[in-house]
Amino acid sequence: MMQDKNIPYKIYLEENEMPDKWYNMRADMKNKPAPLLNPETHEPMTFDDLRPVFCDELVKQELNDTDAYIEIPEEIRNFYKMYRPSPLVRAYCLEEKLQTPAKIYYKFEGNNTSGSHKLNSAIAQAYYAKKQGLKGVTTETGAGQWGTALSMACSYFDLDCQVYMVKVSYEQKPFRREVMRTYGASVTPSPSTTTNVGRKILEQHPGTTGSLGCAISEAVEAASSQEGYRYVLGSVLNQVMLHQSIIGLETKAALDKYGIVPDMIIGCAGGGSNLGGLIAPFMGEKLRGERDYEFVAVEPASCPSFTRGKFAYDFCDTGMVCPLAKMYTLGSGFIPSANHAGGLRYHGMSTTLSQLYHDKLMRAVSVEQTSVFEAAEQFARVEGILPAPESSHAIRVAIDEALKCKETGEEKTIVFGLTGTGYFDMFAYEKFHNGEMTDYIPTEEDLQAGFNGLPTI
Ligand SMILES: *Cc1c(COP(=O)(O)O)cnc(C)c1O
Repeated sequence: MMQDKNIPYKIYLEENEMPDKWYNMRADMKNKPAPLLNPETHEPMTFDDLRPVFCDELVKQELNDTDAYIEIPEEIRNFYKMYRPSPLVRAYCLEEKLQTPAKIYYKFEGNNTSGSHKLNSAIAQAYYAKKQGLKGVTTETGAGQWGTALSMACSYFDLDCQVYMVKVSYEQKPFRREVMRTYGASVTPSPSTTTNVGRKILEQHPGTTGSLGCAISEAVEAASSQEGYRYVLGSVLNQVMLHQSIIGLETKAALDKYGIVPDMIIGCAGGGSNLGGLIAPFMGEKLRGERDYEFVAVEPASCPSFTRGKFAYDFCDTGMVCPLAKMYTLGSGFIPSANHAGGLRYHGMSTTLSQLYHDKLMRAVSVEQTSVFEAAEQFARVEGILPAPESSHAIRVAIDEALKCKETGEEKTIVFGLTGTGYFDMFAYEKFHNGEMTDYIPTEEDLQAGFNGLPTI
């Protein structure tokens, strides 16, 4: 509450204290995440299987379960220096407001034009594509943060960038689209008639407003049908989580500077990359038996992959063209209720986090969107940052945990990931302010419909 004498509001690292290697959690896991499988043969995907879709270096990273540290190329480190290290903030004002003895810190990733942590992986993926001599990349974007980050990264390396944007977002978030076009990307609403899979989905579901799963299928097809193009993805994959470990490594370096040891680390979970990145070095200590921490994944009650999903092999996309991944999933046909405004709407989850959760090394909670927006607003009013709805899932649980400390008198140290800002989410905020936001929790029947589409393996 009162400022601790020795701890500033913002803990910054110097440029020369920034990590020069990413940390790969898988190297320290006893139970490795299950391999991706070929959707037709059900055999593990090899380097050669994945090469037509992803850049070579990224395939190596995807399949690397053994090297704990992987050097960050200098070109990427130089780009990082434009907006990193990101601040680790002591939420003194929030603590004061809550009258809690808990000590709350958040790692803020919204200080770049894309407005989220996604630039950390976008720049790495664009770098490897350029190095391989490719012409361009294709991708999908839901809310638009990933597409924005990737278009920034591609323009930096002078690569073509083709973005398939979920149609409902394309229509609701025209400004996101224009940011991407400012950086030279072409943006197509998905499903579209530019791909076979898009045409097929439109035939089966005329008038659909799209989903991430559809957009992924289209982007993969676009990459494989154009010479010199590869597909890139903004979350879920191991390679993305590896790049996002920069978040956790900086957080740990900043805490170490002041001798602070967190009790609990909280993050929102969409595809799992920001949370996996934030917890990475701490989870490493836990996996090696050096120290214990409590890790909490927060997901929306309307898309509850961890808390109500099944741990099974599933398709990563609606068109079923991608490899199968063993993960906590709601089924690739699951589409969250239309009233869901808070992001984090992917049906599956990172295979690495899924394994860690299955092994009870972390826990997960789900929260309803009206309570998420209440937390967002409370946070914005005292900490001065307008948070993204996705990030606000973590804020909700950090506040709840701090309020528990108030009752028990425990002085826990809580760290959470503030993944981004919410300026392009004002329609959602408007709904909340007008009292028009509702909560929809899928019924058992809703979930069963998704599970029925799981492949039998
Ligand atoms: C994409 C995004 C998320 C979800 O991140 P994952 O790494 O997929 O879990 C969270 N917050 C913001 C602001 C995002 O843009």
